[in-house]
Amino acid sequence: MTTLLGLSPEEIQELIQVKEKFRSKQIYHAIYSGIESFDAITDLPLSLRQSLAENFCIFTSKVDTSLDDEGGNCKLRIELSDGLFTECVILSDGTERKTICISSQVGCKMGCAFCRTADMGFKRNLTAGEILEQYLIGSKIAGKLSNIVFMGMGEPFDNIDNLKKAITILNDKNAIGLGARRMTISTCGIIPGIQALAQSKLEIRLAVSLNSAIEEKRRQIMPITQRYPLSDLKSALKAFQQDKNKRFTFEYVLIKDFNMGDEDIKALRHFTSGLSVLVNLIPWNTVEGKPFQTPDRKDINVFCSKLDKLGINYTLRKRKGFGVSGACGQLAYKAKKN
Ligand code: SAH
Repeated sequence: MTTLLGLSPEEIQELIQVKEKFRSKQIYHAIYSGIESFDAITDLPLSLRQSLAENFCIFTSKVDTSLDDEGGNCKLRIELSDGLFTECVILSDGTERKTICISSQVGCKMGCAFCRTADMGFKRNLTAGEILEQYLIGSKIAGKLSNIVFMGMGEPFDNIDNLKKAITILNDKNAIGLGARRMTISTCGIIPGIQALAQSKLEIRLAVSLNSAIEEKRRQIMPITQRYPLSDLKSALKAFQQDKNKRFTFEYVLIKDFNMGDEDIKALRHFTSGLSVLVNLIPWNTVEGKPFQTPDRKDINVFCSKLDKLGINYTLRKRKGFGVSGACGQLAYKAKKN
């Protein structure tokens, strides 16, 4: 059945073929309030509710598995209407702030060597409705969600049309009403996407997965570097910063004996110079069968103290207790094998 999630009021109007415009606005508004059936929209005439229920639906996905850790974080594997799986994570820091990490695709084309999702290959883009459903399902489970990071499975800028539609609805006060500043898009470095975001009126935040500031090394683990070399990436980021006049984030996955040496730090310092940026360090989450190792506490401390000395701004992401299913794609990948 066709869902009405992800459509504008005008698209809903056209699809459901009601004469009165205000009806489609009412429906558009109501389906983002968490309701699961059209019956709950009691200000619609009964006949309209019935005909909506016969022809359309709201939710198309359902939670297949839910994993909680001791820190109040929750990871969900979501089954889509075609039987494929995607995943999202709700992160709590013990305050009002609850962040949901949302997927934009099933699988991914980017082929990053350290990432489980890459092993799945690319299956398909998520629709705007499926992107929004993750937020709605997450809110049902965790209550009000204050922030979104598009950092789950997939590359958000490789699904930019559906992402834009979903963001418009997330931001719209008549739908979800989440401020653009509370949303972050994480990219492996797709320059046209960064440029589009720079030109957008919305103040959405940007995170770029850097992982190495050495061209050759980054190419080894992130094939996208071949298409968008580091020098071009830096120019795009400088332009982004000029347009948006604000700080962004680099994500840097820490891989033992690979990107944590002195030459890596030197390159990182060089690459970050002239940019106002925060580096988010993420200890690599072990993915079975990959030729990488996660650093131990001591390696991380040494790396951090070197960054301190150079005055590089960083934060260290705390590990989440999801065991082997912690990192991008690991829960959905398991589902695929089962
Ligand atoms: N394609 C986007 C978003 C998805 S990946 C991007 O590249 O930013 C989200 C983040 O998870 C990226 O920063 C990526 O580097 C990181 N990541 C992927 N696999 C990981 C793993 N096994 N351990 C730790 N971080 C991982």
